[in-house]
Amino acid sequence: MLGLMQNWPLTVDKILDHAKAWHGETEIVTRSVEGPIVRTTYAQVHERAKRMSNALKGLGVKPGDRVATLAWNTARHIEAWYAIMGIGAVCHTLNPRLFPDQLCYIVNHAEDQIIFTDLTFLPVLAEHRAKLTSVKHIVVLTDEAHMDAAAAIPGALCFETLVVQNSADCEWGGFDENTAAGLCYTSGTTGNPKGVLYSHRSNFLHTLVTLNADVMALRAQDVVLPVVPMFHANAWGIAFSAPAVGAKLVMPGPKLDGASVHELLESEGVTFSAAVPTVWQMLLTHLRDTGGKLSTLKRVVIGGSAVPESIVRAFKGDYGVEVTHAWGMTETSPLGTQATPNAAIAAMPAEEQIRYRLKQGRAPLGIEMKLTDDAGARLPHDGTTFGRLKVKGPFVVREYFKGEGGEILDSEGFFDTGDVATIDEHGFMQITDRAKDVIKSGGEWISSIEIENLAVGHPKAAIAAVIGAAHPKWDERPVLLVKLKDGETATKQEFLDFLEGKIAKWWTPDDVVFVDDIPLGATGKIDKKLIRERMKDYVLPTAEKAKERA
Ligand code: AMP
Repeated sequence: MLGLMQNWPLTVDKILDHAKAWHGETEIVTRSVEGPIVRTTYAQVHERAKRMSNALKGLGVKPGDRVATLAWNTARHIEAWYAIMGIGAVCHTLNPRLFPDQLCYIVNHAEDQIIFTDLTFLPVLAEHRAKLTSVKHIVVLTDEAHMDAAAAIPGALCFETLVVQNSADCEWGGFDENTAAGLCYTSGTTGNPKGVLYSHRSNFLHTLVTLNADVMALRAQDVVLPVVPMFHANAWGIAFSAPAVGAKLVMPGPKLDGASVHELLESEGVTFSAAVPTVWQMLLTHLRDTGGKLSTLKRVVIGGSAVPESIVRAFKGDYGVEVTHAWGMTETSPLGTQATPNAAIAAMPAEEQIRYRLKQGRAPLGIEMKLTDDAGARLPHDGTTFGRLKVKGPFVVREYFKGEGGEILDSEGFFDTGDVATIDEHGFMQITDRAKDVIKSGGEWISSIEIENLAVGHPKAAIAAVIGAAHPKWDERPVLLVKLKDGETATKQEFLDFLEGKIAKWWTPDDVVFVDDIPLGATGKIDKKLIRERMKDYVLPTAEKAKERA
């Protein structure tokens, strides 16, 4: 017997309809790519997005067509998103930090018909335009006064002109909630990037889950600054969840440095923000250098890579800001877990709670999790056994776009995240490594992430990375690479002494190498692949000794 409740398809256009109806005057403030701070409202964004939907139809966009965006977090970018998704086309967010060859591959693979771009990316598009074979139009997210910058792209269209030329009378939705809404390619550390094709339903459900009080807990009273880009796993869903509750949005545009983020936090009264650790590191450095304060910020969510203890302590201790650590991936829309204390952890002394706050956290309703060995057998949740982390749920990928990579679920329908983790008795998951970065020493696993996070807490360290280097006896041993803060000098022994007692003795790096640069990938994470390539001729001093002895 079926239930007798209404069938109200969970399509994301309803989110902006709701924001317009009940929070129409709430502001969206943008640091525009052109420079000035620009203010608009949910009502205006809704109307302009409808006009843009008509413009897209006029340009020949049909349901299911892919329309790309190559853009920073701005109100215009939100308008483009809802304009595309509202008419059943697929919004494909392109990550401008990818190499041009990868970008071209992705655009062609997705068969994007149109690209919305910020002024920033006109040079790269102009240079590679001829290779983008499916693209019929390029729409520049600007006004006529700035269109000179697009002179190198014949036929480029102006966003503001299209808005003015089209009517706001446009029907949104009316299709199945399983219709594709968004497309985002994974950073592709192995093989070609693969597309994750979100549906309206998966985005809608992800929105409801992230609004949970134990997850992002956004409210109409909040002022939300998503530093995490809309091109990195949908800004962790904030372009949906903020309008869903009618929170004021503050969009940082292209400027993500410490001073610019701080200025917006203070001038707009931001209460909630989300970003990867490197962004917060830049902000904290700026605050220390300038003596700046955080007078309105209450909560930040940090994810994308493991949060170092020094960041959690600085936010809470120096500025009274609550940090919650979250884990997720493009394939999970992206939220997978968040380290919000349960009752037992909340009852612990603050110092003891830190141990849990540094873990990646527990699963909200909608995410199933398990650990397995390489053969797929389930492993215990005892907080110490490492295993492959696998997840399942209504906003977890089932198959990559165009079937790339073949079958990706196990026999129980779980997706292998490629992360290695533990799960403790409170259900708190902790990532110990990417499966391919874990250091295999004498048949045991060493977590590169754990050593990195401790090492970066050394007062002289700006950033640290750990990789495995070949060793004749142990297979691999850890090497710590450190980029020091400007003007600092340090010895290898200082770092080894700093780690002593914090990690098991056999985890101690065999060498510490000081480097000028630790490369970051397209989503702000340490690029281990590139580091390994740069270090390919490196030989561990301990490996040489072991050889001499043999
Ligand atoms: P992406 O799809 O680019 O967002 O990358 C997802 C991957 O980032 C995950 O599979 C993890 O390896 C890593 N990641 C995300 N959040 C965290 C976190 N809080 N701690 C450690 N690694 C993380």
